[in-house]
Amino acid sequence: MAETLLINGQWVASSDGGTQDVTNPANGSVIRTISKGTAADVQAALEAATAAFPVWAGLSARERAAIMHRAMDIFRANLDEANRLLTQEHGKPLNDSNKENSYSADVIDFYAEEGRRLDGTHFAGDIGPTHSFVLRQPIGVVGAITPWNFPVDLLAWKLGPGLAAGCTFVIKPPSEAPLAATLFVKSFVEAGIPAGVLNIVTGPGRSVGAEIVTNPLSRKVAFTGSTATGLWIAQQAAQQLKPVTLELGGSAPFVVADDADLDMAVPEALRRTFSHTGQICISVNRIFVHRARYDEFTQRFADAASKLRVTADGLAEPDADMGPMINASAIETVVGHVEDALERGAAVLTGGQAPSGTQYAHGYFYLPTVLTNVNRDMRVMREETFGPLAPIAAFDTLEEGVEMANDTPYGLAAYVYTNDLDKAFYAAKHLRAGGVGINVNDITDIRAPFGGMKQSGMGRELGQPGLDAYMEYKHVRYRYRDPR
Ligand code: NDP
Repeated sequence: MAETLLINGQWVASSDGGTQDVTNPANGSVIRTISKGTAADVQAALEAATAAFPVWAGLSARERAAIMHRAMDIFRANLDEANRLLTQEHGKPLNDSNKENSYSADVIDFYAEEGRRLDGTHFAGDIGPTHSFVLRQPIGVVGAITPWNFPVDLLAWKLGPGLAAGCTFVIKPPSEAPLAATLFVKSFVEAGIPAGVLNIVTGPGRSVGAEIVTNPLSRKVAFTGSTATGLWIAQQAAQQLKPVTLELGGSAPFVVADDADLDMAVPEALRRTFSHTGQICISVNRIFVHRARYDEFTQRFADAASKLRVTADGLAEPDADMGPMINASAIETVVGHVEDALERGAAVLTGGQAPSGTQYAHGYFYLPTVLTNVNRDMRVMREETFGPLAPIAAFDTLEEGVEMANDTPYGLAAYVYTNDLDKAFYAAKHLRAGGVGINVNDITDIRAPFGGMKQSGMGRELGQPGLDAYMEYKHVRYRYRDPR
């Protein structure tokens, strides 16, 4: 029997004995069988987290930090195992797994120290002899629900600030990729975190995840995933006025100005479009190039895309450019977007099909694909593809390029490549996205807020706002007697 749920410090099986297989998307093999939790398991986990809350919140920030640092020492000692698990369950090449796991440990270490630096405000009252101070207190039990594309990293973005603030957690890892995340949490258990502070209930989002959201014992929901699920969670949480942090889908534009350095822009666009097989919320979804540079950019980009190395074994080829997609429905979305675009007049410059070769026969593979002759009516220009697909369109003025870039319900990340300071500032100001990269293809920095505008989310993770999201303000006003 799989005993992979963590409830009140114990590794237990699901209350009804249910199990689920975790498979390798590169070849379909079963990696491990784990528990499939139930609503009753969520209830038990929430009760444990509720009981542990005063214990954890009652420790000093210094004591909490010591446990968090110790946990990451343990996790780093097991990094090889974590990297292998992540590559097997997700398919990403081993170097990408190492990057994710290492960064996750950095996030926990960072917030352990940020928790110790928390300060507050106090001031003399303006009515009689009063004095005010403002306390910042942890919200309480948090439900953390994460997706499969960065199952460790996106959990760390929640646990780091939440634990530092004094919150306790019930975690629902993604069904496709729960193994490395579970190992990550195990490090905290081995580091001596009090029982019940961290609980894991694996299982279907529609039952286990939904119970975490709707159960009144969870006092906040921190969610990363699709916009559709995020909207549903926001509606449910509203019934209880439960605060939410929602990191949702994206459709990042990559804007190339007429003066851009293509030696820089082409490889950076390539990496941000195709790494993780395009399955990143800040992946480039749409490319807009000034007409004067369109042919040159497009040719160079398509040539480079056709040479990317797709691996069916991310353990054996750790530095490959990309692996498989996560499942059949992910492939269907990409195929649907390509077919729709072709029907509406687009042309495929490279890719447009699965790679050939027996090594790819049992996995979910699709070649890096570049489309031209695209227009805004095509699904690929309006919806998140979340796959290795790059449509390239031309614009005549930067204003027009920015307008085309903003023509989406999403607003998570945007990139602009230019060496003209005026153009850079114009784009940074007018692109409607929570993060804008100027001549840089990654907007993630532990110290900076990360999150989306429009339908890409609500609230921010990372940076100081990422910590604020786990605390509530309390104003304490004190009247004192003047002894004179
Ligand atoms: P989903 O929304 O389908 O799933 C995300 C998580 O939510 C999973 O753990 C899932 O469980 C769970 N879940 C599903 N339904 C419910 C429900 N009704 N109640 C509670 N939990 C539920 O997203 P994907 O897994 O498809 O992830 C890809 C999406 O995530 C993309 O749109 C991507 O852009 C977005 N994303 C956003 C990021 C950001 O920071 N803005 C970062 C990374 C991804 P189960 O696994 O069992 O289905």
